[in-house]
Amino acid sequence: MNEAATRAELVRLARSLFERGYSVGSSGNISVAVDDGILITPTNSCLGFLEVDRIAKIDCDGRHISGDKPSKEIFLHKAFYETRLGTGAVVHLHSTYATALSCLNGIDEEDAVPSLTPYVVMRVGAVRRLPYVRPGDPRMGEMIRELGGRKAAVLLANHGPVVAGKDLLSTVYAAEELEETAKLLLLLSGRNHNLLGQAEVDELKRVFRN
Ligand SMILES: [Zn+2]
Repeated sequence: MNEAATRAELVRLARSLFERGYSVGSSGNISVAVDDGILITPTNSCLGFLEVDRIAKIDCDGRHISGDKPSKEIFLHKAFYETRLGTGAVVHLHSTYATALSCLNGIDEEDAVPSLTPYVVMRVGAVRRLPYVRPGDPRMGEMIRELGGRKAAVLLANHGPVVAGKDLLSTVYAAEELEETAKLLLLLSGRNHNLLGQAEVDELKRVFRN
């Protein structure tokens, strides 16, 4: 896909996320790798109203070379590109249910989104919850780097999810799957429910090579 088509796809998918309530106001930011750098949504932009020519472009040395000023959370994105091999896109949302989950006490920090359905296992994998730091604090990027590329997704405590994937479409799908799984988990909270066991998770990993 050439850069013009990638920009158009970014605008289209961001609008779709906004229109379906995965992002409100100017929350959330999305990036996608191109041949000579990355494209990222501008700071304070609304995912519902992006313009192709105003999307920020960062070169391979991290310099802002065109478009509006990049999101101030760009270091979350860079941390994934620089540590997780094959990362082609990163989606960060403040989506309601995943953010609610990120605020809960007593969840498993290593596996913050339990394996409720096969799809969250296939599309997202185990999600690490990272401790709260204020938005814009570079320690957030450092905590992602410290994972050494072993996780495709994290939950920033009291903030929201960040998901990395091989391309834009599959990464948006993964972010949606994470949000819907968080919704199911909260709907089931306090009710006796079943999770997939280790044997089922291992089978999914084997068959779908997650
Ligand atoms: Zn954020």
